[in-house]
Amino acid sequence: MLPYVSLQEAQTAIGRPLTTAETLWFNYTANMSDYIIYCHNIPIMFLLDTLVPVFYLVMEHMFPTYVAPYKVQPKIKYSLNDHFKCYLLVARGYLLVVPSLLVSYPTVKMIGIRTSLPLPSSTEIILQLIVYFVIEDYTNYWFHRLFHVKWLYENVHKVHHEYTAPIGFATQHAHWVETLVFGIPSILGPALVPGHMVTFLLWLALRQTEAIENHSGYDFPWTFRKYIPFTAGADYHDYHHYVGGQSQSNFAPVFTYCDYIYGTDKGYRYRKRLLQNKQLKDGSNGGLSCASTSDIKSE
Ligand SMILES: [Zn+2]
Ligand SMILES: [Zn+2]
Repeated sequence: MLPYVSLQEAQTAIGRPLTTAETLWFNYTANMSDYIIYCHNIPIMFLLDTLVPVFYLVMEHMFPTYVAPYKVQPKIKYSLNDHFKCYLLVARGYLLVVPSLLVSYPTVKMIGIRTSLPLPSSTEIILQLIVYFVIEDYTNYWFHRLFHVKWLYENVHKVHHEYTAPIGFATQHAHWVETLVFGIPSILGPALVPGHMVTFLLWLALRQTEAIENHSGYDFPWTFRKYIPFTAGADYHDYHHYVGGQSQSNFAPVFTYCDYIYGTDKGYRYRKRLLQNKQLKDGSNGGLSCASTSDIKSE
């Protein structure tokens, strides 16, 4: 809860007039406990897990001709019923996710996520988000590799790999142990570089949206990620699912440098090269989807 009873008092304490964003934040959170502010992450996550996959679904059914060239595994078709079943499956997982988010508040408080004024500047938010993405990506890479050790894969991670051609709704489809463990990389950045609750909620929302895009099954050319060098994306992560249980490739969720440095993208790059050569030979200029490489494999 904010330690000021009026806008005037807040302005006096800060020593300058509040910005529009700060005035909105004051009006919205003045009488709200920090715990309730933190709990906003639950409806935000739920809305993203629902609406972002619905966006891809709408695109697929309303503009099939437009989206077809960008489908990573064009031979795989899911019905609306399949999508709905997956959504219900993941919704069941919320029975675990919601309580764990509710009880994780002391951790968020302990690491120093603040809710007070002033709000962080846009530069501070952007720099912190970059740090969070880098830390999350690196840590997630190693946790993910660990989950591909035979016993952990068979008993935990296999659930997430049930979809060899992922869809947006399947982003959160995972064993409960995996859901909890992958929460660690997400909280590590904010723990090392604590910021404002606004940045924290924004970070969780962006990370979730990026994860859904990775599992969307579509590699659209206009996504924001395409403007950031060395980023992974739908085609990259789709290959990880496509190879399946034996997959020792493309572990990183956000950037590609870890897989490159540790040599875990060799299979993916090899298939890309094969496909490029095949396209040069055929004179075609289709997409470089990992699924298209299955054609090469069968030749
Ligand atoms: Zn995996
Ligand atoms: Zn995945």
